[in-house]
Amino acid sequence: MTEQDPLSTVRARIAAAARLTGRDDDAATLIAVSKTRMAEEIEPLLAAGQRAFGENRVQEAQGKWPALRERYPDVELHLVGQLQSNKAADAVALFDAIHSIDRASLVDALAAACTKADKHPACFVQVNIGDEPQKGGCAVAELPALLERARAAGLTIAGLMAVPPADLEPAPYFALLAKMARDHGLAGLSMGMSDDLETAVMLGATYVRVGTALFGARA
Ligand SMILES: *Cc1c(COP(=O)(O)O)cnc(C)c1O
Repeated sequence: MTEQDPLSTVRARIAAAARLTGRDDDAATLIAVSKTRMAEEIEPLLAAGQRAFGENRVQEAQGKWPALRERYPDVELHLVGQLQSNKAADAVALFDAIHSIDRASLVDALAAACTKADKHPACFVQVNIGDEPQKGGCAVAELPALLERARAAGLTIAGLMAVPPADLEPAPYFALLAKMARDHGLAGLSMGMSDDLETAVMLGATYVRVGTALFGARA
C-alpha cells in the first residue's frame, strides 16, 4: 500500500462516504481547521490546493491570515469558535463564514456589523445538540426563535452547525441536526470532525471541520 499525504487521505475519506450515499465526491467541503497551527504548517496545504480554512479565535486569525491571503486571495476563512459580541465587527471583516451563532445578542451585534461593513458572511447557527451545559450553541428548543431573529435582522443564514457529545455515538446527533435543518429549509450542514467525518458525510454534512487528521495532534 502506498502512503498518502494527510490531505489526500482526508479527501478520499470524504469522497468514499459521499459515494456510499449516492452524493457527489465533493458534496461536503473540507474545512481545514488550522487553529494553533503556524503559517509554515498551513502553507503546504495551500500549495496543495486546499482553500477553505477554519479558525476558532478572531485574534489568532487576524495575526496569521492577512499575510497568507495576500498570496492566496481565493482563501475562504471560516470562524468555528465561540464569538464575543464585541468582536463581531472584526469577525465580519476577516471571515467568509461564521459557524458559531448561538444567541440573540450575537445575532444583533453581527447584523449591525454586517450592515456597517456591507459584508455578508455565510452564517451558521450552532445548536447544542446534546444539551450539554458546558457546550456552546443554542438549545434545541430555542432554535426556531433564534433563526427567526437572525432572518429578520438580515443575516445570511446558510445552515446549522453542531459538535455532538464526546464519547457517544455521533450518528443520532448528526441525524437530528440534519432533520432540524430540513425542517427549517436550510441547505447547509456543518458537522463532522477528524474522527467522525464519514458518519457526518453519510448523514448529509455539506461542511466537515477537520484539524487533527490534517495537521496531527494539537499541543
Ligand atoms: C478544533 C475544532 C475542530 C477540529 O477538530 P479535530 O478533531 O482536530 O478534527 C472542528 N470543529 C470545531 C468547532 C473545533 O473547535
